[in-house]
Amino acid sequence: MTSSLRNLEPRRPEPARTLAESEVLAAARAAQADVHAAEARKLAAAVQWARLHEVTDTEESATWGDSPVSISGPGAPLLAKGCIAEFAAVIGTTTNGGRAYLADAIELAHRLPAVYAEIQAGRLAAWKGRRIAGETVLLPLEAAVDLGERMAVVARKLSARATQQMIDETIAAVLPEIAQERADHHSTPRVVVDHRQVSFSGTSEIYGALEIADALDLDATLTREAEALKAAGCDASLDVRRAMALGRLARGEANVDRPVTLYVHLPADTDATAVLENPGSRLLTQAQVAAFCGNPDVRVTVKPVIDLTKTLASAGYDIPDRIKEHVELRDGTCIFPYCDRPARGSQKDHTEAWDDGGTTSTDNLGSLCQHHHNLKTHAGWNYTRVDDGVFLWRSPHGYAFLRDHDGTQDLTPELREPPRSGRRPERRTPGSPPGPARPPRGTEP
Ligand SMILES: [Zn+2]
Repeated sequence: MTSSLRNLEPRRPEPARTLAESEVLAAARAAQADVHAAEARKLAAAVQWARLHEVTDTEESATWGDSPVSISGPGAPLLAKGCIAEFAAVIGTTTNGGRAYLADAIELAHRLPAVYAEIQAGRLAAWKGRRIAGETVLLPLEAAVDLGERMAVVARKLSARATQQMIDETIAAVLPEIAQERADHHSTPRVVVDHRQVSFSGTSEIYGALEIADALDLDATLTREAEALKAAGCDASLDVRRAMALGRLARGEANVDRPVTLYVHLPADTDATAVLENPGSRLLTQAQVAAFCGNPDVRVTVKPVIDLTKTLASAGYDIPDRIKEHVELRDGTCIFPYCDRPARGSQKDHTEAWDDGGTTSTDNLGSLCQHHHNLKTHAGWNYTRVDDGVFLWRSPHGYAFLRDHDGTQDLTPELREPPRSGRRPERRTPGSPPGPARPPRGTEP
């Protein structure tokens, strides 16, 4: 074999030594912390770049490059438009990409200073701050600063959905006409059957948006008709059978009579908004909810109001529907760290196992998606209930995460060493925050 051919052989990186599992996890976590710190430094560099190229005199522009451009929200400094491309290039992105990055950095530093301070203090990931900054540019300065101060307290543990909801609620309160415009834009019902690019296998693309009640009906009808096709002997995939079912619907061959159940949550502390739970948490105005209820074509089932402060219990192992409903409403999503899958229809886990004396009651049940239920049952993850709807998780190697209805908080202390090694005895400083203490199930020597 020639040396040039030998060079083409795939190579595997050879580590100097094999790391233990706990060391790999500690290394990955330390690397992630380095990434966060580097992203904070990069944002600070962008802010400094903007400061060096701020235009204060909008009348006098010596060159095209000096002319001012506003890329962030009201009250933020103007930037000399010629400076953007170079910054973009040195961070390896397009000018549009660099402009968006600088816009977020300026928005954070000048209009969301509390959020920016959290990033620079290492308590909030820069990408989470940028996600907020990307949504607040419409807000007046005072409303942006106020929202930033409220978000800075909780942003590091909020899920993407909860973050978006907090921003949407502020926009709905401060700029109701913008919120309505956005809702109208996203919700104008339309269906497009695109015959311009028929595929080689003879299919056309269909896309669009339906009224929520129509969409739920369509979804359920396609699923039911697909099941009927399977029962009749069709062995095509579910996707194919659903597409065939839509064709049957078009020819009037499907049965569509079905009532609609909408799960509408009306928060006690606001009279402006409601959350439509299915098919995904969606913020609505109460006027929109009222419109659903007044539509003669929609048979809305109103679910009874459930008092989530009460504890419901049942004597047997099986979980009655009223207790499932209570747990689903309380949890909202799967309660595993960072999981965003809906609690509705999830599995209900006895926090303390039934065989170990755990009861079938709302204070001993949590919603888990199938995958995360498997992790708890088979892979060394475990959790305890801290309070109603608040759970403390421990990973197989002892990392700790607090999960509540707002989201997830990593409670593992900052450690340079792996939190648990199979050989070394455990060391904890008295009074240190809850850390890796409990040995993982099934992996002890
Ligand atoms: Zn899950």
